[in-house]
Amino acid sequence: MCGKGVNGFMKRIYMDHAATTPTDNEVVKAMEPYFTQKYGNPNSIHSFGQEARDAVEEARKKVAHLIGANPSEIIFTGGGTESDNFAIKGIAWANQKKGNHIITSKIEHHAVLHSCQFLEKHGFRVTYLPVDKYGLIDPDNVKKAITDQTILVTIMHANNEIGAIEPIKEIGKVVKEAGIYFHTDSVQTVGHIPIDVNDLGVDMLSMSGHKLYGPNGVGVLYLRKGTRIDSLIGGGSQEKNRRAGTENVAGIVGMGKAAELAEKRLVQGEEDKLIKLRDRLIKEITEKVDHVLLNGHPKKRLPGNVNLCFEFIEGESMLLNLDMEGVAASSGSACTSGSLEPSHVLLAIGLPPEIAHGSLRLTLGKDNTEEEVECVIDILPKIIEKLRALSPFKGSWEGLKK
Ligand code: PLP
Repeated sequence: MCGKGVNGFMKRIYMDHAATTPTDNEVVKAMEPYFTQKYGNPNSIHSFGQEARDAVEEARKKVAHLIGANPSEIIFTGGGTESDNFAIKGIAWANQKKGNHIITSKIEHHAVLHSCQFLEKHGFRVTYLPVDKYGLIDPDNVKKAITDQTILVTIMHANNEIGAIEPIKEIGKVVKEAGIYFHTDSVQTVGHIPIDVNDLGVDMLSMSGHKLYGPNGVGVLYLRKGTRIDSLIGGGSQEKNRRAGTENVAGIVGMGKAAELAEKRLVQGEEDKLIKLRDRLIKEITEKVDHVLLNGHPKKRLPGNVNLCFEFIEGESMLLNLDMEGVAASSGSACTSGSLEPSHVLLAIGLPPEIAHGSLRLTLGKDNTEEEVECVIDILPKIIEKLRALSPFKGSWEGLKK
């Protein structure tokens, strides 16, 4: 039975992979010895240290391979947030004599937006580009925004809420012509769609372990050779003086293993499997429910991302009702949930706040099945029906009913 396992126990369904992914068993297995047996400090000369150093360098190669980079261009960090902060503030501090202007978009993750807002308090000027109704940025708008003071363009590869995949390659061409640094927050795309940093034309790219079945608290900044950047964290000379602090060896090993496994899954066609499940969810829910809107582009979207707005309903009540049925989803991004502010991304694509409040994000992962998708297709319309019957907007809803 849907939502129920054997003996009446609730079978839980996880559809919140954009918030975090489960750590792969193989990743955990690869990490384990680095806690209890191979615990040397990679900066030590002795054999324990060298064992750990080898593991860090092996992981660096695996991550580099996944994105078509050179291992020397991979800097391990404490996660996606740190990578974004490092790229943006690091470029700003190191290049402030050249100019003080940065270009980004209105739909970036807060790790990017807050870094930019911080720099605004310190004399930098930031242009926040608009997006179209699908959440896509026009490369021409990037071109028009560039001035002789521009030192950095930072545009996310794909949006974490609505899944829109931005035209990074086209933007890369524009930015390269202008001779400016280009950073992309690729936290939601690395390991989920094929990526080649040279093909994209980026100088910096952020990634995060826990979004690709690796551990939390470890990330990477890809840094193209020759990029002039200041480090954020001072101390020892780790990561070629770019990021001080004794390396998180087990986390880095986990990140490397996660990258290796992600590469295999991409070759085996995981993207197509997720697209099929995603499109089925979108098609059947929008057929079964009235007054529902797909957020983001129908095709230019992350393989596992479904984001819908249901009119006359609060996102939070949908989440609670789904959770009672064992289904984990989200409304807006995990980082903003808990706040009553409508998502800045949904407002940027032109939704009025009352509609933006009724958003639901289901993000599929490698272990979701057809059966789980069928279960959500069965449960969700019933929840919507129930909530609309209780809704304070009931009158207006009934008047609009098809
Ligand atoms: N950037 C994007 C697009 C994200 O989705 C997230 C996490 O939700 C981050 C950055 C932050 O990554 P982390 O959780 O590793 O700090």
